[in-house]
Amino acid sequence: MRAAFEMSREDLAELLADEPRYRTDQVWRGLWERGARPADMTDLPKPLRDRLEAALVPALQEVTRSVSSDGQTTKWLWQLADGRRIETVLMLYPDRATVCVSSQAGCAMGCSFCATGQGGFDRQLSVGEIVEQVVNARREALPRRLGNVVFMGMGEPMANYERMWSAVQHIHSDLGISARHITVSTVGVVPGIRRLAKEVLPVNLAVSLHAARDELRDEIVPLNRRYPLSVLMGACADYLVAKGRRLSFEWALIDGVNDSPRDAAELAELALPLGAHVNVIPLNPTQGYAGRGTPAAGVAAFREWLDEHGVNATVRANRGNDIDAACGQLVARRPPAPKTSRQVPH
Ligand code: SAH
Ligand code: SF4
Repeated sequence: MRAAFEMSREDLAELLADEPRYRTDQVWRGLWERGARPADMTDLPKPLRDRLEAALVPALQEVTRSVSSDGQTTKWLWQLADGRRIETVLMLYPDRATVCVSSQAGCAMGCSFCATGQGGFDRQLSVGEIVEQVVNARREALPRRLGNVVFMGMGEPMANYERMWSAVQHIHSDLGISARHITVSTVGVVPGIRRLAKEVLPVNLAVSLHAARDELRDEIVPLNRRYPLSVLMGACADYLVAKGRRLSFEWALIDGVNDSPRDAAELAELALPLGAHVNVIPLNPTQGYAGRGTPAAGVAAFREWLDEHGVNATVRANRGNDIDAACGQLVARRPPAPKTSRQVPH
């Protein structure tokens, strides 16, 4: 048994060695272009469909699918073969769609305000588990074109570098979503940024900054103690020189923590020399963190201050909040344990 989306064309040809040569092409297109399960490939003879259905197991089983009240955001909860769970978020726009994929089950980075971080690290996702999230989202997005893939779901992509990168290569080459439309988001894993700079495919880099002075960043993003801002900014500058792609900084505005004029000025000092675009998003509430998102007036003021400093900034819409699909809210809770206490009779 193999995960369909971990296979190369050669692997598939080998699996179909006793079939006519054109079958490889047919099955390949069915899998990658149509996102079809072998059972649905009605252009194949039934015995072959059955054989492929048994040979190519799906990596993801849908547990639930939640749709936001405006119908524009879908969140899946998937169960993996070993029972672990992850989430994927699809965002629809009038003429295109973006998928936000998970790269790990859980995360070891421990950012205090992030639901995934609060739950700790579970395990790395395989290449097939990452790619299949994109394949499924692409099918769901139809007739819209899935235009963008962002590694902003659960986990730290740079801490699962090889598999993340292999998934990027499949998404680029086999799904036809160009690297220029793929964004890898990191909390600041400097060796990962340096490695990414050496790759041939030019993906976009997003850095989750949230604080622009070490004293504050040490507190809310523990990895900063290992890679302080001067080191992180050095790696970002080198990435820009090597790749010439747009760099963005993510900034979750936390009421009274990182939303003052001083914070805006410090952020501007880092963003301006790199020409970085800043994505501002009011912090989404999570169970394990007392901090609140900055209220709307404060968000507008922060954006204004950035503007006055000459920094390009966008306030990101808070999508999927009603289904816990917004940034930092992905946690993939395990199913509740069966109740052992006495049930109250109806
Ligand atoms: N680990 C990577 C990729 C996950 S992206 C990273 O941190 O960049 C998830 C994004 O949502 C990151 O920018 C993260 O900082 C942000 N985030 C985490 N918790 C959040 C919250 N409660 N509200 C808003 N954004 C949050
Ligand atoms: Fe991990 Fe990113 Fe959440 Fe930090 S913000 S705990 S790095 S997923």
